Amino acid sequence: MDKTAVANKAAKAGATTLRKLPAVDEVLRTPAAARACDTFGRQAVVDAVRRVLAAARKAGDAAGDAAHFAAAACERLNREARPSLRPVFNLTGTVLHTNLGRALLAEQAVAAAVAAMRTAVTLEFDVDGGHRGERDDHVRGLLRELTGAEDATVVNNNAAAVLLVLNTFARDREAVISRGEMIEIGGSFRMPEIITRAGAKLVEVGTTNRTHAKDYLAGIGEATGLILKVHTSNYRIEGFTTEVAARELAGIARAHRVPLMNDLGSGTLVDLARLGLPHEPTVAEAVAEGADLVTFSGDKLLGGPQAGFVVGRKDLIARLNRNPMKRALRVDKIRLAALEATLKLYRDPDRLAARLPTLRLLTRPQGEIEAQARRLAPVVAEKIGVSFAVGVTACASQVGSGALPVAAAPSAGIEIRRARIPSARRGDGRALASLSLAFRRLPIPVVGRIADGALVFDLRCLDDEDAFVANLASLDPSRSERSEGSDALA
Ligand SMILES: *Cc1c(COP(=O)(O)O)cnc(C)c1O
Repeated sequence: MDKTAVANKAAKAGATTLRKLPAVDEVLRTPAAARACDTFGRQAVVDAVRRVLAAARKAGDAAGDAAHFAAAACERLNREARPSLRPVFNLTGTVLHTNLGRALLAEQAVAAAVAAMRTAVTLEFDVDGGHRGERDDHVRGLLRELTGAEDATVVNNNAAAVLLVLNTFARDREAVISRGEMIEIGGSFRMPEIITRAGAKLVEVGTTNRTHAKDYLAGIGEATGLILKVHTSNYRIEGFTTEVAARELAGIARAHRVPLMNDLGSGTLVDLARLGLPHEPTVAEAVAEGADLVTFSGDKLLGGPQAGFVVGRKDLIARLNRNPMKRALRVDKIRLAALEATLKLYRDPDRLAARLPTLRLLTRPQGEIEAQARRLAPVVAEKIGVSFAVGVTACASQVGSGALPVAAAPSAGIEIRRARIPSARRGDGRALASLSLAFRRLPIPVVGRIADGALVFDLRCLDDEDAFVANLASLDPSRSERSEGSDALA
């Protein structure tokens, strides 16, 4: 038989099997499809049925009756209905994980955000005067009270805050910054690029490890619009180093009548040492040291929703608010509501660590986490079978998002290794990667990390133990053949 004859014969055979595919209407008449119409709407079900039939036709696979294709369509509809942005168990050991959404909000903030979503609110409305108000007013007073600054403004995130300050004071002028502070924050935020994008000319002074007052003095001139100090929050240079302290730099800035911005990054409103954590510069300290403007994030150590703050001199904040860019960077009512509620918690410092999830998780004692690991390790071991060994391990959690870069909180977790049995020796790495994938494919994905040949779940951020156990019910390690593990996020 020549090639054409073979092709013709195959096409004919295909045509006979395909003729057996049920019609769309026939599938729609099944009870399963009728129930799906109630849930998803008739149009969506018709589309799904067409798509599964088309896929079967393309694959030359006509096996199955109307009920079979109705079930396939329902499976597809359910899969597509699942939210893309969904809860996970963050067992990475990084409390403020940027990829997992950073800070968890306090219940008070959640309630305020929900209320703001449902109703009309006084977003830009002065109730007493009956006229237009300003959205920043809802948090301005609180921020002044908590930082000692004269005034404050809020934007989308801290990157936006830095961009707004640079664009307002250094556009078509020069921005002076130490070479030791030219940092990159994860997610492509690079200081030199932001400076250029804001329309400013970058003037680098000093060297990577040492910058002196005389370097700043040499860099400052007629065209200087802004002096920047950046808290190198995500790395530390150690050894032969010098930087000009904020207070001294503030003096230099004042003498030259140029504003000084201190970008704190995380910034915290309380002294973390009071909670037994390492000290991180507070916003109030940065204000007291004489910075004209201080910028910081809402969803890092502060423990609120994503936002960026600028606090400082009243005349300078007024200029920020007059920049048309402010309008493009402003926050919505939902986040403002959550921010106001979060900031109010700071008025009661004694109960702050209990109410604010970020601080509560960061201060969880290692003993408590270890006890939790002892309770859960046998449950996990039973689920994953004899080819893995499950143990309790001491580990170290990170704050994350750049805050306290070298500080690690002693923690505990579950460690899973390939069992020491002859049949399980080969492909250890692949086996762990596919086990890690099986955990990520659970209804609530469990995200840990792979380090030193073990899959580790740091339990510092595990609040709901019962939900964790219930979630394990559908764990099937044998079903996850495909491996796509990465070391950073296992
Ligand atoms: C995190 C960080 C930023 C960016 O803040 P976002 O709120 O993520 O936009 C800027 N500067 C420093 C020093 C930071 O640590």
